[in-house]
Amino acid sequence: MNLKITKTTNPKPLPVDESKLGFGQVFSDHMFIMPYSPEKGWHEPEIKPFGEISLSPSAMVFHYGQEIFEGMKAYRTANGDIQLFRPERNFARLNISAKRMVIPEINEQEALYALNELIKLDKDWVPHSDGASLYIRPFIFATDPFLGVRPGNYYYFIILMSPSGPYYSSGLNPVSIYVEKEYVRAIRGGVGFTKTGGNYAASLAGQSEAQKQNFAQVLWLDGVERKYIEEVGAMNIFFVFGDEIITPVLEGSVLPGITRMSTIELCQKWGIKVTERKISIDEVAEAYDNGTLKEIFGTGTAAVISPVGVLKWGDKIMTVNDNKMGTLSKKLYDTLTGIQYSKIPDDMGWVRKVT
Ligand SMILES: *Cc1c(COP(=O)(O)O)cnc(C)c1O
Repeated sequence: MNLKITKTTNPKPLPVDESKLGFGQVFSDHMFIMPYSPEKGWHEPEIKPFGEISLSPSAMVFHYGQEIFEGMKAYRTANGDIQLFRPERNFARLNISAKRMVIPEINEQEALYALNELIKLDKDWVPHSDGASLYIRPFIFATDPFLGVRPGNYYYFIILMSPSGPYYSSGLNPVSIYVEKEYVRAIRGGVGFTKTGGNYAASLAGQSEAQKQNFAQVLWLDGVERKYIEEVGAMNIFFVFGDEIITPVLEGSVLPGITRMSTIELCQKWGIKVTERKISIDEVAEAYDNGTLKEIFGTGTAAVISPVGVLKWGDKIMTVNDNKMGTLSKKLYDTLTGIQYSKIPDDMGWVRKVT
């Protein structure tokens, strides 16, 4: 890959207090950008100073939302190495999203190479404090200045990076979530399995309502029968019923999370059976009533493992595991973050060093 690198002549000061980083507010000095045209395909890949880009107000992405993205992190280990967690899965998933949204696919190896170079250049932006990381956002969108409805002919693929604080600034506390009965996020045949902005736009009304009622996030039910559990905000979800671990099966409306996949693989390695199947909200309520509901937790790159302490479904309020983090949630959290920060050996072969 013939990657042009233009370094900034005006580096920004690094964050002084990493505990105040929050999420997605500060950006590193450089970004990767590559245009696509029908004549040249993906061409002229470049790393350059992070900054504004210029687009026509008629750019297609603004009108019909032809856009896809990914979310991943770079972690700094105790000995100063910088590493990624299964990054090839993110670029593979970006191409799955691309196909569904009629966006030209990228070369996954070249994208990994460009990301590696970008992180090397901005290595000082990878936070040092425990639980903090450099959040990485690859995204692709249509830029044609045209108001007709059709797939774009011109695109940008951009990667930007944002040093972010630990997701749990006040410790690993369980979240309260609310089962959404009115709105739905996605349906089979739609775009729920892709990371596309429109899925998030569609989720905002439910999310705002949940927050008004003091719930952190929404638990989405399926869009047809309004009965089967799908996922939470930006997390997949798992239930522990007695010794059985269940997560909703992927049928096109649920995002196939890499943390979800890693959770299933770890459980299998530990000899714990995980079943991917349909699970209804009534079944969860029944398990709660008869005492077999042990734990509920969400999985995603941002929070890794997020225990659910309270689940509200209509008038029914279910307090799970005394609103405390469960044993399996804790073991998964410690193992996944342990591997990500090289605090424990990477038996699974998931870590890729930035070199
Ligand atoms: C990104 C995302 C997830 C989690 O995926 P990870 O690969 O584990 O980060 C779950 N649900 C939705 C809707 C998402 O966008």
